[in-house]
Amino acid sequence: MTALPLAAHRVAAPRLLDLAGEFPGVPEGWAYLDAAATAQKPKAVIDAIARAYAQDYATVHRGVYQRSARMTERFEAARDAVARFIGARADEIVFVRGATEAINLVAQSWGPGQVGAGDRILLSVLEHHSNIVPWRMLADRVGATIDVAPLTAEGQIDEEALIAMITPATKLVAIAHVSNVLGSVADIPRIAAAARARGAKLLVDGCQAAPRMVLDMGALGCDFYAFSGHKLYGPTGIGVLWARSDILQAMPPWQGGGAMIEEVTFERISYAAAPLRFEAGTPHIAGVIGLHAAIDWVEQVGMSALEAHEAALTALMRAELGAIPGVRLFGPEASAGILSFAVGDIHPHDVATILDETGVAVRAGHHCAQPLMRHLGVTATARASVSAHNSPDDIARLAAGLQKVRRIFG
Ligand code: PMP
Repeated sequence: MTALPLAAHRVAAPRLLDLAGEFPGVPEGWAYLDAAATAQKPKAVIDAIARAYAQDYATVHRGVYQRSARMTERFEAARDAVARFIGARADEIVFVRGATEAINLVAQSWGPGQVGAGDRILLSVLEHHSNIVPWRMLADRVGATIDVAPLTAEGQIDEEALIAMITPATKLVAIAHVSNVLGSVADIPRIAAAARARGAKLLVDGCQAAPRMVLDMGALGCDFYAFSGHKLYGPTGIGVLWARSDILQAMPPWQGGGAMIEEVTFERISYAAAPLRFEAGTPHIAGVIGLHAAIDWVEQVGMSALEAHEAALTALMRAELGAIPGVRLFGPEASAGILSFAVGDIHPHDVATILDETGVAVRAGHHCAQPLMRHLGVTATARASVSAHNSPDDIARLAAGLQKVRRIFG
């Protein structure tokens, strides 16, 4: 293992948390650097999910018996916690499977009534496929056009250019808060103000921001916000769509079934108010409980402390990797927890395979962002992303692994 430069240690140390012991899924000596794909889980979250099944389990919103009534209270308490966590109201929180489903919900429910032939939807080059494909599908269905805002040379969304591209025909701007490839952070309040001034709605893909920064829907000023529980230290299969109350209440249901209705006859259905109108079927009860536990855990640690921890590790990672000959870093200096890189012209899969042999887990591939890969002139990158449990040792292990990659490939 390479010794860390002392100066880097001194910069990083005061802001670092020591939480590795809370993650039973991360054994000592394994550098898990793929939180941007999915976060490892703190014991508190694992225990809460186990308790939900082993002690408290029952359905919600239906049962008259006490266990079900208590579980319903817990379920709705989780909705309250999510709302507090993002500075919103509980009736604006829709539980979905994840960010992908949240965006599809907006595209399929809000989309057809609000975006028509000749209208425009504005995205950016760095979007994840889940913030491209639902809009392409909607555009094809209604005859709308997709516009794509460029990036700056650094790898930020070019906000000047994006704002200039919002026309009166633009019904929606849909962009990532934090890029899952470059870690670049968009200035959402600025973009929201510009969208509002031109009558366009703003959807923010907050999948990579929700685990990394303090969120306040009022301050952001957007209209829709989507994120996944599993990147926020919670379980898979649960996520959140936040939508401004007046917009959400006016949106038609997108899936039909139990729990989302008021009255059903064969001739006519009346629907429940939002958010239940958008939650057809038995929900992911234990997932919602697990998400609540994850939010409690994050709040206990403190989101600002997590943000500072990740910023210190990211700065260290940029310094360490940037000092290795032949390593090319992508994205801006001030990237949030995520760093894509290339090692000469060695294929990222080979880089990740050799790193795996040294006990370092990074992602290699197109990261569900093929248009961005084309923009960068590559087919894939290697990507390291940091999380609450990581330490400077993990970064040192990554740097040492990359030296091994260089030795193997000469
Ligand atoms: N958007 C971004 C920026 C992401 O990083 C991801 C997950 N990689 C998604 C959307 C989709 O999230 P999920 O697969 O949890 O629905």
